[in-house]
Amino acid sequence: MADPVAIARDLIRCPSVTPAEGGALAFLESTLKAAGFTVHRMTFSEPGTDDVENLYARIGTAAPHLMFAGHTDVVPAGDPAIWSHAPFSADIADGVLYGRGAVDMKGAIACKVAATLDYLAATGGKPKGSISFLITGDEEGIAVNGSPKLLKWAAGRGEKFDHCVLGEPGNVNELGDTIKLGRRGSQNGVLVVAGKQGHVAYPHRAENPVRGLVKLMSALMDEPLDAGSPKFDPSNLEFTSIDIGNKTVNLIPGEARARFNIRFNDCHNYASLKTLVEQRAEKAAAGKVRWKIDWEPSNADVFYTEPSSFTDVVIGAVAEVTGKTPKLSTSGGTSDARFIKDYCLVVEFGLVGTTMHATDERVPVKDLQVLTAVYRRILDNYFR
Ligand SMILES: [Zn+2]
Repeated sequence: MADPVAIARDLIRCPSVTPAEGGALAFLESTLKAAGFTVHRMTFSEPGTDDVENLYARIGTAAPHLMFAGHTDVVPAGDPAIWSHAPFSADIADGVLYGRGAVDMKGAIACKVAATLDYLAATGGKPKGSISFLITGDEEGIAVNGSPKLLKWAAGRGEKFDHCVLGEPGNVNELGDTIKLGRRGSQNGVLVVAGKQGHVAYPHRAENPVRGLVKLMSALMDEPLDAGSPKFDPSNLEFTSIDIGNKTVNLIPGEARARFNIRFNDCHNYASLKTLVEQRAEKAAAGKVRWKIDWEPSNADVFYTEPSSFTDVVIGAVAEVTGKTPKLSTSGGTSDARFIKDYCLVVEFGLVGTTMHATDERVPVKDLQVLTAVYRRILDNYFR
């Protein structure tokens, strides 16, 4: 039996904080090569961004083609002194494995690798179709030199994917409680209000942009963007920073800005969302506030994968192994499924997300074993 815990520990010990490879992809390369995979290591670049390493590995040439997708990069550990176990030491205490990436998502990658090695051992080293690993090092960063380019590169060399299981930690409380079939979109913007700089003692000679900014912010926060849709929670606009940068106490500033992020559901597309927000700002401004919104480019559109026979394979495997009927969900942040969905049907199932990105990120060893069994069952049922 391949041991997912040993693989997870090896991966966690690679300090692969985005954009560093940290040895994680090299470890996967040697492990998958030894199992008969053809492995490609791809480094992608773009002006103004860090180069990022990625990995694509495939075994088999026939259809159907199941892709296991994931990322080996992790977010920084923060202050290691406040961790109860060093973040990259992969200590196990009381049956729990500690370390940055334990749940997001080196643990799940380890389970996929272990399940695949087991499956291949049972099938004489050959899958009935094809299995691939599409592993990026640029998920936690800006996701420019990761999955989008890796998928495009793979498609360019003729790779055809039928289905994908992405291993993000989407379970809410217990392993088996949630499968993700879609994600809300994400859009950043900056609200900019223009004023006229002047002395605070002579406000009639100036125009304070803070008043207009507060008025427009209130209007945008007061009214919900929608009430949710059958498949999605309500959209949400959240201001994250107010930036005036004025250090002088007797100066009325000339400009005021506020940054915000919108998580939007399938009631909107990029264009209709921007129009809605701008109409509300316009109304609140009532012709008296000089404002504009600078919209950042976004590569995180909303999407939903309709349930299919493939979803049934995943739900069935989860139910058979965990005894639970998973909820089909679209909650939470965005993921690389937003890129993969353009190439094949994608379903997300991984570990429990409670400690992702947190100090003392950790996973029960038992969960790694159960998740490996789920992935193994997916392989059995998929290639039956
Ligand atoms: Zn992740």
